[in-house]
Amino acid sequence: MISEPPITILGSSSSGNCALVQTAEAKVLIDAGFSGKRICQMLSDISVRIEEIDAVFLTHEHADHTQGFRGLYRYQNLTWISNKETFESIAHPNKNKARWNHFETGNRFSFKDLEIDTFSIPHDAADPVGFTFSWGGNDLFSPHHNIAWVLDLGHMTSLVRDKISKATTLVIEANYDQRLLEEDTKRPWSVKQRILSRHGHLSNTAVAEYLHSEVSPHLDHILLAHISKDCNSPEAIRRVFAQKTQLAVRSKIRLFNPFSEAIEIL
Ligand SMILES: [Zn+2]
Ligand SMILES: [Zn+2]
Repeated sequence: MISEPPITILGSSSSGNCALVQTAEAKVLIDAGFSGKRICQMLSDISVRIEEIDAVFLTHEHADHTQGFRGLYRYQNLTWISNKETFESIAHPNKNKARWNHFETGNRFSFKDLEIDTFSIPHDAADPVGFTFSWGGNDLFSPHHNIAWVLDLGHMTSLVRDKISKATTLVIEANYDQRLLEEDTKRPWSVKQRILSRHGHLSNTAVAEYLHSEVSPHLDHILLAHISKDCNSPEAIRRVFAQKTQLAVRSKIRLFNPFSEAIEIL
């Protein structure tokens, strides 16, 4: 039987991203890219109250990762954790009413029973990061987990490859299908160039090729996320991965389908 990944993706696409990680001691969100009301609803759907959440880790300032701040900053139980550049790039009149902890990109730190590593990702934001969250492994009843969260990156750098190499669960973006992006009529040429650039987003092909070339034996779960609703589809992803990845790797892959808002087998 395939076990469940130790992370709950509440929602993920180019219009919003938010996930919940729960350990014995901590409940934290990664990104807050929906309205505060919607995040509270998504949590309540899985019987978690916003008052139980300890912290929100922010990867970068883009609205699809931070728009929940506006509705959630009043909750005094939340610590907002980001680097300084991301903090400074969030425009909100009551920003300082929330509690913030800042890290230096590249540093490791702990939060309750979580060990967090932070690293730069190539994306057009002030100082965008990927995270790994690791915990457990001290006894039989708490297995070791290491979740890597890498969304919003124009290409796989050697730093990113190295930082996610020990992950047991990898959440990575499969943002667009090359043909669907080219055919899209909503986006002007300049926006398409931004998405395609080395500081834009990863295509289905780029992720499939990475997973074909480099998947560590530690990896139990691969979750494809940040799927564009306009320039991608689960069918396009299935087609590319069927061609490019081996069955042994493919069997570990799930996708967060933004159309049905559910995790599906590839
Ligand atoms: Zn972004
Ligand atoms: Zn994004």
